[in-house]
Amino acid sequence: MAVNRDASDRERLLDEIAKCRSCRFCVDVCPTYQASGGVESASSFGRLQIIKYLLTGTLEFDDSLTYCLYSCLQCGRCEVMCKSKGQHLDICEMIQRGRRLLSGRLARGGKHAKL
Ligand code: SF4
Ligand code: SF4
Repeated sequence: MAVNRDASDRERLLDEIAKCRSCRFCVDVCPTYQASGGVESASSFGRLQIIKYLLTGTLEFDDSLTYCLYSCLQCGRCEVMCKSKGQHLDICEMIQRGRRLLSGRLARGGKHAKL
């Protein structure tokens, strides 16, 4: 049952990530993006893309992707910007859901494990 639930959670999360318009308005306000000196994968938009590609198997975990996924401060600044631009994505919750769905794969060593 847990496998089925994870599969449907995965599809729901991918559907929500697909609503991102790639406008990148949220990127500049993200404090970890600012601290990184402009590395997009350390931003809100970048994290959603990383989650998408990890969930679809396009990317495999490595240390830098793991760091990007877990370094989100959950501050919500990206959400305020996204909502002000009319897209209303719950980015913090989406990142948390991505972490939960991917945590088992990370614990099993990442590379060859399947969701
Ligand atoms: S502001 Fe919202 S829609 Fe635009 S890139 Fe960021 S998450 Fe995607
Ligand atoms: S919640 Fe995470 S992704 Fe969003 S602005 Fe804060 S650190 Fe960046």
